[in-house]
Amino acid sequence: MTQIFAYIPFNNGVTEDVALEYPTAALKIDKSASLTAVVAGSGADLDKVANDMTSIYSEVIKIDNADFAYPNAEVIRKALVNIIPADAIFLVAHNTFGMDLAPGLSVKMDCAYAADMVDFEGIEETTLKAVRQELGGAVSTHVTVDISCGAVMTIRPGAFTPVEGGAAGGSIVDKSSDVGDVSAKRKFLEIVAAEVGDVDITKSDVLVSIGRGIEDEDNIEIAQELAEAMNSVVSCSRPIVDAKWLEKSRQVGTSGQTVKPKVYMAMGISGSFQHLGGIKGNPFIVAVNKNPKAPIFQVADVGIVEDILDFMPELTEAINNL
Ligand code: FAD
Repeated sequence: MTQIFAYIPFNNGVTEDVALEYPTAALKIDKSASLTAVVAGSGADLDKVANDMTSIYSEVIKIDNADFAYPNAEVIRKALVNIIPADAIFLVAHNTFGMDLAPGLSVKMDCAYAADMVDFEGIEETTLKAVRQELGGAVSTHVTVDISCGAVMTIRPGAFTPVEGGAAGGSIVDKSSDVGDVSAKRKFLEIVAAEVGDVDITKSDVLVSIGRGIEDEDNIEIAQELAEAMNSVVSCSRPIVDAKWLEKSRQVGTSGQTVKPKVYMAMGISGSFQHLGGIKGNPFIVAVNKNPKAPIFQVADVGIVEDILDFMPELTEAINNL
């Protein structure tokens, strides 16, 4: 039977949404696979997360160690090698930590490594069929992974439908004493919280988010007028921050802010996974883009093929006339 292990990321006792997405990914790999959650950390936060996970997973491995208080991939990798069976499939989220952890773990486990999976198409003998995206999501590539010696794979957060947390009634297995030597050359020093800028985009229910499609700094005013009409604020993709047109605190994405609005207006944003990785909580997404093949349309609830420089002033006027 295929054994699948899923690494649960959490912060201050709150798990990331991907914890609910692994079970769907595991079912797509192999319907009859066993699935075990792995939570590593220390103290009360770890206990809370381990307990929470028993409502989703039938088995939860807990590894408690003071060195895991901060998720240092070098340390956790050493522990996992002693805990994950050699021929298992290990899933980890394709986020900054997962990208740090996974390649080295596959080397240590001497197994296959595959990154940023967005879908699985089942196992044939010792080969797993999987789907990735390339060229910023413009094309999907179908790949095979030899899992005869196990595999370490990162999965893209948001790519798999989350399951409902219920009453799985799972059990917690404490493997804290099995971690072995976790001494590391990389030491955690401190967490430096991101500066809160002129507005806090994480607090707004509606975001008017602009991307490179805004074309010119002077056009940002058009987005600001729409945001005001909608009683919301302007956020943006990374190129807008790189161009120094807006502050870093307005950037949505894996290297920016994580937002959970009710409505997300993606204006001239292509929909890279780094951008979408910052949008949580399943908001209603309205995407406006000149290119009908822009990847953002794959996740949008409403997609409009239009020039945002025409669309936004018209929408502002229509709202103000209401
Ligand atoms: P583009 O990809 O250039 O898309 C612009 C879109 O606008 C296109 O789809 C185009 O068709 C459309 N368009 C152009 N003109 C108009 C118009 N007049 N009207 C309507 N549509 C128009 N990006 C982030 O956003 N956040 C992150 O946190 C982030 N972190 C990253 C971390 C790493 C390590 C790396 C490597 C990259 C990161 N990126 C991040 C960058 C990311 O890969 C993309 O490059 C970026 O998201 C693209 O931004 P965009 O959609 O605005 O621009």
